[in-house]
Amino acid sequence: MSFFNSGEGPYIIAGPCSAETREQVLETAAALKALGVNLFRAGVWKPRTRPGSFEGNGTPALEWLQEARTLHGLPVVIEVAEPEHVELALRHGIDALWIGARTTVNPFQVQHIADALSGVQVPVLVKNPVNPDVALWQGAIERLERVGITDIAAIHRGFSGYHAASRYRNPPNWPIPIELKRRKPELPIICDPSHITGSRALVPDMAQKAMDMGFDGLMIETHLHPDDAWSDADQQVTPQVLQQILGSIVVRRDEADCNSVELEQLRQQMDSIDAEVIDLLARRMELSSHIGTVKKALNIAAYLPERWNEIVATRGARAESLQLSREFVIGLYERIHDESIKQQLKVLSSGMNEIKK
Ligand code: PEP
Ligand code: MN
Repeated sequence: MSFFNSGEGPYIIAGPCSAETREQVLETAAALKALGVNLFRAGVWKPRTRPGSFEGNGTPALEWLQEARTLHGLPVVIEVAEPEHVELALRHGIDALWIGARTTVNPFQVQHIADALSGVQVPVLVKNPVNPDVALWQGAIERLERVGITDIAAIHRGFSGYHAASRYRNPPNWPIPIELKRRKPELPIICDPSHITGSRALVPDMAQKAMDMGFDGLMIETHLHPDDAWSDADQQVTPQVLQQILGSIVVRRDEADCNSVELEQLRQQMDSIDAEVIDLLARRMELSSHIGTVKKALNIAAYLPERWNEIVATRGARAESLQLSREFVIGLYERIHDESIKQQLKVLSSGMNEIKK
């Protein structure tokens, strides 16, 4: 059985963003042990975006965690970003390691960490890379698998980007973790609503959303006095709030035991709608090629901005009239239009090689 399995209910990781003082670590661990948390987290080396802010207490913090572990019998997890961190963590009896988003993004660095773990059995959590690249996330996991690590889980912490309009610090981009689960069905995936939302008021809903999506656990940053935290103050919750969250989240069952007749009928209807959607797309692409032939004869370019603007306006309005999100339908049409242009370019450029010869 995976290390990241609580036996019942979601696997819960909680603790402060950073290990700030010995007292903070010991007191928080005591409070979280009482709540039945499975794993105590605290950052010992902190990957800060800009220099000059608190970058972690390093080795002394490892000793505080060791003490908390012995005193409260709560396993502990820290972030490692260098082979040296791995060595120090193992030397201090740390139970599990996590690889942060800014490390997963770099295959050289992940490989250095994997090499330091070669021949060692320690559970490792791999946060998604900061950019929405499922292959990079999967690649980091595979680098650990190749050196023999067997207890691995992924952490979904959202993706950074240019998103002034988003209410989240790192928008969740659900298709990415869903695709990881499709590629690696046995891999537990834990959601980190703290780093996704960046705001404590939004953490409970995001935690529930993760349960609704069938995630295996939660990592929630928890601080005795969140407003005074030395890092990520806005997003940490108190142990009391964590208790409320854990007491109120509804855990959804996974698919294996919910094959009701009603669900089966609805799925059959959905299957036939999807077949129609794909048939229509095939017809639309055929039409695109035909349009390409006509454009070639008339010597007209494949991409015509005015026509694309008209498609965006009319399809967007139709979507809204049917209570569909305009953003969703336009996004879909961007992909469809892109494929149409490809079909037309194929037609426009056919015969070019003969001309060159
Ligand atoms: C953290 O968990 O405190 C952290 C630094 O996370 P991330 O790598 O997701 O930014
Ligand atoms: Mn943090």
